[in-house]
Amino acid sequence: MADAARALLAACRAMEAARLSPGTSGNLSARDGDGFRITPSGVAYDALDESMMVFMDLDGRWKGDLKPSSEWRFHLDIYRARPDAGGICHTHSLNATALATRREGIPAFHYMVAAAGGRDIRCAPYRTFGTQELSDAALKALEDRRACLLGNHGVIALGETVDKALKLAREVENLAAQYILARQLGGPAILSDREMDAVLEKFRTYGQQPIRTG
Ligand code: 13P
Ligand code: ZN
Repeated sequence: MADAARALLAACRAMEAARLSPGTSGNLSARDGDGFRITPSGVAYDALDESMMVFMDLDGRWKGDLKPSSEWRFHLDIYRARPDAGGICHTHSLNATALATRREGIPAFHYMVAAAGGRDIRCAPYRTFGTQELSDAALKALEDRRACLLGNHGVIALGETVDKALKLAREVENLAAQYILARQLGGPAILSDREMDAVLEKFRTYGQQPIRTG
């Protein structure tokens, strides 16, 4: 469907404009019917157009001239396991990746950590890029969460749409920067489970909800 490729291209351009992932690092995808569209491997974001977005079905089959992202395995596994995922964004954003090189996640140092769906954002152990081992580790770190860090690598965020996945990846980068800064100041105070649960509850109805009539 053209809609998925269009949304994917828009997200690629927004990610590039935000300088969220340098060079050809990172990749994005959007669910599309009985499969998904994913960015081709190793192509600069500003060289992409809609026709270059590779379609892959949920059995991992793809066709076309361009090879899908080397990380197609975790994109595929996330779409299979997570009905809540309509889009996925993987970045090597600066601060989140710096934290991931310490193999540390982000604790409840700020209430916005709950934007990723839980009381913390986990960091998956290091695995070689593009492998099934990396995908397995990522899916575990994403349990009950919409984002995780990847040890010595970067970030994965997912959302209802690829645009929402990108927004969450930006939020994770922002949180990582704040967390690093707070540690330099002597270390942040950490919110309690009760405090985080109250935020998670409020997030269920935050923002504009569909207006009920009648
Ligand atoms: P691709 O260009 O193959 O998507 O790889 C980039 C990347 O971030 C690998 O982890
Ligand atoms: Zn990567």
